[in-house]
Amino acid sequence: MTQPQSTDIISLTMKLLIYSKALYSSWVYYSADRILFDAGEGASSILGNKAFAIRRIFLSHGHADHIAGLVCLINIRNNGMGDKEKELTVYYPKSNYLISEMINFISRTNRRLSYSLEWVPLEAGDRIQLITGQLPRYIEAFPTVHVPSETSLGYNVVEVRHRLKPEFAGASQKDIIAVIKERGREAISETYDQRLFSYGGDSVQIKPAYVQGTEILCHDTTFLAEEDRKEYKHATLAEAIATARLAGVKKELICFHISSRYKDKVKEIVAASGRYDGLDFKVTLVPPGRVFSVD
Ligand SMILES: [Zn+2]
Ligand SMILES: [Zn+2]
Repeated sequence: MTQPQSTDIISLTMKLLIYSKALYSSWVYYSADRILFDAGEGASSILGNKAFAIRRIFLSHGHADHIAGLVCLINIRNNGMGDKEKELTVYYPKSNYLISEMINFISRTNRRLSYSLEWVPLEAGDRIQLITGQLPRYIEAFPTVHVPSETSLGYNVVEVRHRLKPEFAGASQKDIIAVIKERGREAISETYDQRLFSYGGDSVQIKPAYVQGTEILCHDTTFLAEEDRKEYKHATLAEAIATARLAGVKKELICFHISSRYKDKVKEIVAASGRYDGLDFKVTLVPPGRVFSVD
């Protein structure tokens, strides 16, 4: 885990690149599938050339701190130095008024884009295929609760994996080969869905069932202390940890969207990362206002 100061030193192996400061700007670049989750202000200027690598954008909701970067990102892919013909698809919660207005603005002010730009409304439960083949991956949208006027969604990146059926667990290699010869490979293996990454966007505490068994959970942690929260529309650190524990997060809880009131505590925030005893996963706090990468 490193905290690069500029795009020049962003690790090539990074899995996630995150910028998040509550109310100002939030976005998460998931490199494996070239996905940008939310597009807060500054996303394209910080991502630099990586802005051309993005294939899909998934928006959690329409607040300015999550969509303001779309204008520049869509523009730079049309005018900057890079592959100007790469398609881009933006997925967003259906019937979201603020995002619909943004789509109108962008459509009217970008009538001659060099690439294909598609807007796709989604509802909770919808699935988007990312890749096919041996280990297919897809995105599933799940409901979150933020403010009554904003339809909002979270997203899981899911991989379809194969495993030996439980009834063959003790079988010898020879017996397994015999079954395959007789009945085919499907007879011995079954598929299961593994959630690799879950992005919650802005939300009160996420229902654990929606992110059950995920490897990495990115959860709203606007407030480090319950007494700082005046309105019930974001989550606290204790709630993020509670959801991660109940969901059986396998690797890491990434606490993002931290309020800038805690910015002077950045060193403490980073030092606190990972230091929670009795948890089966690592806890990482994303310092507000800093580019942060997770390898
Ligand atoms: Zn926000
Ligand atoms: Zn919001």
